[in-house]
Amino acid sequence: MSRITPGTTGIAPAYDVVVIGLGVTGTGVALDAVSRGLSVLAVDAHDLAFGTSRWSSKLVHGGLRYLASGQVGVAHESAVERGILMESTAPHLTHAMPMLLPLTSSVSVGQALLARSGFVAGDLLRRGAHTDRETLPRPRRISATEALALAPGLRSAGLRGGLLSWDGQLEDDARLVTTIARTAAGLGAEMRTRARALRATGTGVTLRDEITGVIAVVTARAVINAAGVWAGDLDADVTLRPSRGTHLVLRQETLPGLRTSVTAPVPGSTSRFVLVLPQPDGTVYVGLTDEPADGPVPDVPLPTEPEIGFLLDVVSAAFAHDLRRSDVVGAFAGLRPLLTVSANAGDGQTADLSRKHAVLTSRSGVVTVVGGKLTTYRRMAEDAVDRVVEESLLDAAPCRTRSLPLSGAAPRPVLARLEEDPRLVRRFGTDAALVVATARDVTRLPDDELLAPIADRVPATLAELVFGITHEGAADVGDLLDRRTRIGLVGSDRTLAVPAAERALALVAAASGR
Ligand SMILES: Cc1cc2nc3c(=O)[nH]c(=O)nc-3n(C[C@H](O)[C@H](O)[C@H](O)COP(=O)(O)OP(=O)(O)OC[C@H]3O[C@@H](n4cnc5c(N)ncnc54)[C@H](O)[C@@H]3O)c2cc1C
Repeated sequence: MSRITPGTTGIAPAYDVVVIGLGVTGTGVALDAVSRGLSVLAVDAHDLAFGTSRWSSKLVHGGLRYLASGQVGVAHESAVERGILMESTAPHLTHAMPMLLPLTSSVSVGQALLARSGFVAGDLLRRGAHTDRETLPRPRRISATEALALAPGLRSAGLRGGLLSWDGQLEDDARLVTTIARTAAGLGAEMRTRARALRATGTGVTLRDEITGVIAVVTARAVINAAGVWAGDLDADVTLRPSRGTHLVLRQETLPGLRTSVTAPVPGSTSRFVLVLPQPDGTVYVGLTDEPADGPVPDVPLPTEPEIGFLLDVVSAAFAHDLRRSDVVGAFAGLRPLLTVSANAGDGQTADLSRKHAVLTSRSGVVTVVGGKLTTYRRMAEDAVDRVVEESLLDAAPCRTRSLPLSGAAPRPVLARLEEDPRLVRRFGTDAALVVATARDVTRLPDDELLAPIADRVPATLAELVFGITHEGAADVGDLLDRRTRIGLVGSDRTLAVPAAERALALVAAASGR
């Protein structure tokens, strides 16, 4: 039985730590706390990865961009955490991604020299973080011929070559969150979706079961608020003002043969770029924007038409083929937190938390951890749990997550030798065999039904939908299509996949009644 379940039925009256929010930060906190020997209840009002964590660019950043603004500490921390994810805790969910900066006529020789020295500095960050060159190769200058071989659609007129560097890419951001959640649940953390925190203090929370409406009061020795851009709803001392980042989703055939991500300069700007990011599932993301998003924080932020038009224009300027609105098969937006007043500062200062994170103890005793990045979730969790261990005098072991593999993790050579379908290995690592065995056991269907793509251009399989229900707490079609898999990022694919998701739910329900 999965310990990731919807609602509040059966939860205990008291825990050492209650965590609010099951994005990358909250699941990371739950894993950190439970692996130190603490009892943990972690809740989300909706589902795993319901918030910002599923709307990212899906990069494991080395922190290069922070060097440019002189934030050496933040850059080093990012590079260290990237190395931990790629080499120890999640090699199955991460891979090296080439990034090409095309040297076109709009990039001056001076800008190219500056960019090149930036990439060299990025490589120094990698070395400083002790990440192997096998994991992330050195940056290098490439010829126009090689640039066009990697990105055949680029405009060739005026192209004098490119700068090729490497960073980390996630298989999928929501999959990282789900895997952290499953790892925490495997160690004994109680993970509950559809459980909304209505109120929180340093000694407990009031929860509402979003399925039954039942209210539960739980006491805790510490409460950690990891509710992302919604953190201020639970803690009057925290005020966040979000900014929206939008991505487009294209089919790979729109930019045929693309084998690298491309950093496309924004025409007329010397410092702004748009990233073109091929994904492992046959799509390409184009992002991203940065627009103020004042007013109430929506459950699901929506991209605007001007943002979509801007991204299309920038990519069209870099590629020979002009992109049209009809090439856009999906678009999504996420909210970055901007902390305007902090409990500790109390002086009205603002800080952009899309770079660094903050751990704040409010007057109510709640500890809020907010900001940062997917890449640095582990460090954020460590800092938050260190804070509550110290302030609430908890009897806890030191942090272990630096070397605690997530479920399914193994060294890359071991992953390469696994016999299961490579796509399942990329998403589940050594647990790919468990996914297949569970689906066989639960459904009693033949492999050709369980392991076939569920629709044209939708590589996800019935087996992983079944596993999403049995082991990953998926409770409905939305959980399966929008978060356990990312089929929902392309609306037309989602429509095609709904029957498979409904079938998986029916098969598991029938098996539990057997
Ligand atoms: C556009 C964009 C692109 C990004 N790209 C990258 C990238 O490529 N790489 C990278 O490292 N980082 C990236 N980031 C940063 C990263 O995505 C975020 O820092 C991270 O996902 C934040 O996670 P979180 O868990 O703190 O918040 P969230 O993921 O938003 O999680 C908060 C959770 O709290 C829940 N919640 C809210 N209120 C309550 C309540 N009352 N009770 C219970 N639950 C509640 C919500 O349902 C939600 O699931 C990007 C950010 C943005 C905006």
